[in-house]
Amino acid sequence: LNVSITGFTGAGLDRADHVRLDAERLAELVANKEARLLRLVELDPVLDEDGRLAWDPLDGVGGDALFLGLDEGAPLFAPLVRMQTLGQRAWSVFRLLSMMSGKDAAIWGAARSVNEWHNRHGYCGICGTATNIFRAGWGRKCPNCGAEHFPRVDPVVIMLAEHDGRVLLGRQPQYPQGRYSALAGFVEPGESIEEAVARELMEEAGIAVRDVRYVASQPWPFPGSLMIACLASAESDALRLDSDELEDAFWASRGEVEAALAGDPAARFQAPPPFAIANTLLTRWSAGG
Ligand SMILES: [Zn+2]
Repeated sequence: LNVSITGFTGAGLDRADHVRLDAERLAELVANKEARLLRLVELDPVLDEDGRLAWDPLDGVGGDALFLGLDEGAPLFAPLVRMQTLGQRAWSVFRLLSMMSGKDAAIWGAARSVNEWHNRHGYCGICGTATNIFRAGWGRKCPNCGAEHFPRVDPVVIMLAEHDGRVLLGRQPQYPQGRYSALAGFVEPGESIEEAVARELMEEAGIAVRDVRYVASQPWPFPGSLMIACLASAESDALRLDSDELEDAFWASRGEVEAALAGDPAARFQAPPPFAIANTLLTRWSAGG
């Protein structure tokens, strides 16, 4: 894995935004012999025998489809499906993700996020009327008041506070056994990324920070976050944990982080999976970034 590439990125598709509202051009893409439809079970991906995303010919599509974009000229679509299990934590798919290429994870992640958004936004937020899909799946339009609604992306800051050569890691009760990760939280209206980082570290761990630095970002399709990874310098290492958010936290040394990233069974903690940006953040930090 190239550490400069974060999880759920690198789809490499031409999203061809200009086609989305062009019914004639879209019909041509649907009729294209190379057009393919992503195979999903509920919203989970299906992998073929080579471990790649499974695709079907587009002519089997009954119902609405999302135009994902062009992959070297081939039009890619994903079904828009009514979900039976909305809002569930998707641990089951993590095993599949660990086997998927970055490109496949990125393509599937976009399809998953847009599907969740459609399922959660069936009604106009202004007048309450049931809305219709438009823009080839990249929006909904209200037939009553004409309002247009677009898939939302929720910014989340995720950060390592650093103090004296160690970084702060925390554990939420629902994590797999042994797992520790970077602290994280949603950016609130009226905040910058830097302010959100400082507030979250103060709220969750009682840590005051300065010098917040942006490191990298990636989508997180559960359901539609944009993870914004940062480093920050802690004023002190005295922790005051919010037990509603964190079950435990500790300051990890570079050696402890390296052992966890290497999968050492004797490591002090289990690192987040490579497709999570916390892994990228720990990798960059341990490499001196
Ligand atoms: Zn409306």
